Amino acid sequence: MSDVKRILVIEDEVSIQELLCYSLEQAGFEVIAVATAEQGLAEIRSELPSIVLLDLMLPGMSGVALAKQLRSDSRTRDLPLIMVTARAEESDRVGGLDIGADDYVTKPFSPRELISRIRAVLRRRAPHLAGEPVEIGLVHLDPAARTVTVEGQPVDLGPTEFDLLQYLMHHPNRAMTREQLLNALRGDHKALVDRTVDVYVRRLRGALGPAGEAMIETVRGIGYKLTSTAE
Ligand code: CA
Repeated sequence: MSDVKRILVIEDEVSIQELLCYSLEQAGFEVIAVATAEQGLAEIRSELPSIVLLDLMLPGMSGVALAKQLRSDSRTRDLPLIMVTARAEESDRVGGLDIGADDYVTKPFSPRELISRIRAVLRRRAPHLAGEPVEIGLVHLDPAARTVTVEGQPVDLGPTEFDLLQYLMHHPNRAMTREQLLNALRGDHKALVDRTVDVYVRRLRGALGPAGEAMIETVRGIGYKLTSTAE
C-alpha cells in the first residue's frame, strides 16, 4: 500500500529510461515511464506520483516549462521533483533549483547515487512517505508497523483514517485544505471524492478519543489542522 513509492520518470532517451526503470524497480519503487512532458502531465493529472524524475531536454514541452507549471498549480506545488540533465554547467544547476526542483542530477549518474538522492528528497519533502515513526502529544504513529497508540493504548483505525492521520501528523500546525488532504491520500485511495475527507476526519476523531480528537481542528472555510500541543 502506502509503503510503495510511485516514481514518474519523464525521459526521452530510451537507454536512460530503461536504466532508470530497471534500477528503480530493483530498489523497490513502482515506476511509470513516459517520453514527453505532455504525457507526464497526463499521468500526474490522473494520479499524483510520490516523486517525479524529470529530464530537462525533452521534445515538445521542455522539462523546465513542465516544472514551472507543476510549481504554479496548488495540487502539484509540493510534488517532489528531481531534474535530470546532460548539462553540467553550474548555471543550469542553479536554474533547475530556481524553478523549484528539489534536487538536480547530471548524466551520466550512478543508479545507486540517484536512489539515495531520491530517498533524501522523499524524507525532506514527503516525510509521510518515508516511514519514520512520529509522536505528537499523546498520539504515537508507526508507519512501518501501521500502528497507532494514544497514551500507549492501541487504536484501531481503517487504512484511510490511518493514512490521513499519518499525513496530518507529518504536517502539524498547518491548515490543510480538503484538496491537499485528498491529494495526499489519493495515490492509495483512488475512489476518494471531496466531501469524503470530512467523513474520514469524523471517523478518525471518533477512534482517537478526546485526547486525539482535540488535536484535529476544523479550520473554517479551509479544511483541517493538527495542532501539536508542544508549540
Ligand atoms: Ca532528453
